[in-house]
Amino acid sequence: MRLRNIPGARDVIAGHEAVIKNEKEQKGHWEEVFGNDHPVRVEIGMGKGRFLMTMALEHPEINYIGIERYSSVLLRALERMDAMEEPPSNIRFVCMDAAEIEEVFEPGEVDRIYLNFSDPWPKARHARRRLTSAAYWERYDHILKQDGVVEFKTDNKELFEFSLEQVQEAGWELKAHTFDLHHNEDLNRGNIMTEYEAKFSAKGNPICKLIAERKR
Ligand code: SAM
Repeated sequence: MRLRNIPGARDVIAGHEAVIKNEKEQKGHWEEVFGNDHPVRVEIGMGKGRFLMTMALEHPEINYIGIERYSSVLLRALERMDAMEEPPSNIRFVCMDAAEIEEVFEPGEVDRIYLNFSDPWPKARHARRRLTSAAYWERYDHILKQDGVVEFKTDNKELFEFSLEQVQEAGWELKAHTFDLHHNEDLNRGNIMTEYEAKFSAKGNPICKLIAERKR
């Protein structure tokens, strides 16, 4: 998702209290950012933030960080949050490329990572950019806590099959997976829909999901 450049987006983002501007300086200090030692869960490529904001409201005992590369998209998430009567206080946003995620979190600082409808990068020569490619599992391994997990949802079967292979190659443990989340009673319990999930499932596309635990 890349929205047209929105004039003034950077200024709004720079002035918003939920946006962390100097994210690399917070490495090892996220407890201070949130003012508590609750677990930190990160969504990479959060888009307009529907999933993360719902999670934050439902789980005040968890801290959530949304990472989004494009300021135009992050702006939409901030607008959604500002329109809420009681916005959650346990959420922060970072505008960055996830390729640099190890510069933002200390080893073990992250409890869980969510990847929702990540860009597929269908061309083989772009495979390294996929958020479920080997280099990314290596990055996630460095920042997650001991038994930390990655949860990944997509309607793109090719990307999902690629991701299952990469989980195995990276030596992670595949805890659960399904090619049809919305008809899988166990995995769908408590499922929070993302924007893309709502859009693509309404068209009849089955949603795939995997949960992988980092290697010990
Ligand atoms: N997660 C949302 C959902 O499910 O509705 C949005 C999905 S959208 C297809 C993918 C989002 O990930 C886009 O907003 C894109 O800008 C962001 N993204 C892709 N690669 C990224 C990266 N390397 N770092 C940060 N954000 C990224």
